[in-house]
Amino acid sequence: IFITFEGPDGAGKTTQLKRLAEELKEQGYDILVTREPGGTVISDKIRSIILDPAHREMVDQAEVLLYAASRAQHVHELIMPALQAGKIVLCDRFIDASVAYQAHGLGIAAEQVKAISAFASSGLQATCTYLLDVPVEVSLSRLQQRASAAAGQGLDRIEQKHAAYHSRVREGFHAIAADNPARVRVIDAHRSEDAIAADIRQDCEQLLKE
Ligand code: C5P
Ligand code: MG
Repeated sequence: IFITFEGPDGAGKTTQLKRLAEELKEQGYDILVTREPGGTVISDKIRSIILDPAHREMVDQAEVLLYAASRAQHVHELIMPALQAGKIVLCDRFIDASVAYQAHGLGIAAEQVKAISAFASSGLQATCTYLLDVPVEVSLSRLQQRASAAAGQGLDRIEQKHAAYHSRVREGFHAIAADNPARVRVIDAHRSEDAIAADIRQDCEQLLKE
């Protein structure tokens, strides 16, 4: 079972993913927790190229292909072997992020981004996706807080983009949810951490029974 967490920056994906992982581990499941872009040595190197705030000159085509290259390595080196070994894989972002950020955000045709992603992942898709939804203002203010709290560590190249970009990304996630009602669960993430975790846990327990 391959579960992904999606949503805008600052929605709380990473926190919620860790909470679900702990919960499932306590129940005795074998869990792999990973993230995109990243997850392997090569994928993490590509991540740092993509996110370096100094790389202002990066063209959109290169951005799409770098995410795809990072994903290809991650899927084949880590995710597929873990799934074959019977693990539950929890991944922080996956193909939906490319459709939201690169297609809707940058304005590249969604069909192209999907085709490149499908090549990269050899067609692997998430079984279930938790889409943590927060208003853009909330997401951006959480990011600002995080950036000022982490001394010396500012926002990455994508996080630094203007609010209009982030609004398009959020709309992109909504469009993905509307197109994939059976796979994507939209979670209102503008609530307490505990309330969000409870919703996800309940839904996941149901999924594991099926
Ligand atoms: O989830 P995390 O914040 O670690 O993701 C790293 C950065 O990459 C974020 O700023 C996110 O906005 C960006 N991203 C992206 N396109 C993707 C995946 C992530 O722009 N497909
Ligand atoms: Mg981020």
